[in-house]
Amino acid sequence: MLAGGDSLEDLKGLHISSLDGEKEQQNADDDLNGYEDADDEYDDKELEFVTLGFVEEPKSRWALLRQLFPSKAGGVPAWLDPINLPSGNSCLCDICGEPLQFLLQVYAPISEKEFTFHRMLYVFLCPSMTCLLQDQHEQWKRGPEKPSRSVKVFRCQLSLINSFYSSEPPRCDGSDKALGTEAPLCTWCGAWKGDKVCSSCRSARYCSEKHQVMHWRSGHKVECAQIAVSSLSYEPSLPNGASLVNMRKVASKSIWPEFAIIIEDECEFDREVSNADNHANLLVSREQMDETVESLLHNFEGNDERKSWATFQECVAKAPEQVLRYCRNAGSGDSEPLWPASSGRLSKADIPRCGYCGGAMCFEFQILPQLLYYFRVKNDVDSLDWATIVVYTCAASCEASLAYKEEFAWVQHSS
Ligand SMILES: [Zn+2]
Ligand SMILES: [Zn+2]
Ligand SMILES: [Zn+2]
Ligand SMILES: [Zn+2]
Repeated sequence: MLAGGDSLEDLKGLHISSLDGEKEQQNADDDLNGYEDADDEYDDKELEFVTLGFVEEPKSRWALLRQLFPSKAGGVPAWLDPINLPSGNSCLCDICGEPLQFLLQVYAPISEKEFTFHRMLYVFLCPSMTCLLQDQHEQWKRGPEKPSRSVKVFRCQLSLINSFYSSEPPRCDGSDKALGTEAPLCTWCGAWKGDKVCSSCRSARYCSEKHQVMHWRSGHKVECAQIAVSSLSYEPSLPNGASLVNMRKVASKSIWPEFAIIIEDECEFDREVSNADNHANLLVSREQMDETVESLLHNFEGNDERKSWATFQECVAKAPEQVLRYCRNAGSGDSEPLWPASSGRLSKADIPRCGYCGGAMCFEFQILPQLLYYFRVKNDVDSLDWATIVVYTCAASCEASLAYKEEFAWVQHSS
């Protein structure tokens, strides 16, 4: 149980947790006792508790602000620690050198530990399919020692008492305020720190030269002169994402559309497999989704692949609109992703060690390609695509001097 009593119950309700009730107790014991409970081991495959993520239009203008600890996809990241953002090469695709694009974030606190009272995982991706293919190629070639990545995952965690948030649970009525200041963000992408300032207007800020050039070409050339003449601040008309503004507008038109990620337990779908009304409010129709599945199926050849795909399909068919499967089970370490294909899996032996504490990493969640349909990514040959992106995190969710710790992602391609 959490310390602090009833006032925390609301906040706890936001937590994504793969462990509930008895199971939570079981795993807490595992954590404490190591392998002493080994004879309690039962066939976990049947009981494994998976939480599914679905995308939905945000319910309000404020629902995805950082003080609400949102799980979200697309748009800009809601940085949990708004000051000590990832910087330098961490923000770049190691393959093409361009700033990475925000894919999604998952709020996944671990209630057993004080310093993980708030815990957020962020996934960034280079939108170039060439880079994503190269990323996996590099992984196979070199092993995880010298990574050259186009997909990066960051973990940020805070204890209940911190300088960025009230220790009271959010009221979720639009009145919640974030505390403290925030690092100014890039005017173009809204994702990364805007350390570079436009030298003429001294108002627009950029994470990189690349984004400065993009902004200049897309209209800042004209706008900049106006700002300089009128000596108005750039901020009021085009908020750069920092500060007070509710709607975080960014200049770039190419960031992915913003959605809230809502969470449901997979077991909820076991009973009502064909209840189409269940997700009547979702944005992609079942027919569209079936087409997606059809087209993916054509990519698989050979018996093993078809078998693997069939198993995957059977599982996903319970709730075909899912974009995320979450199942952290660090105690016994036997959570495994659902692999769509039999080739290109990461074997347990190949899961790297945590780069900070040297401890084991465990599977935490996977991202399904359905997300690309919500992002309206075209189904062309060169378009961004994946079979699944699997995220592994430090089993101990260790502390390190860095606010944003890099975790490990494995990309499986569909062909
Ligand atoms: Zn790239
Ligand atoms: Zn930028
Ligand atoms: Zn300017
Ligand atoms: Zn660690």
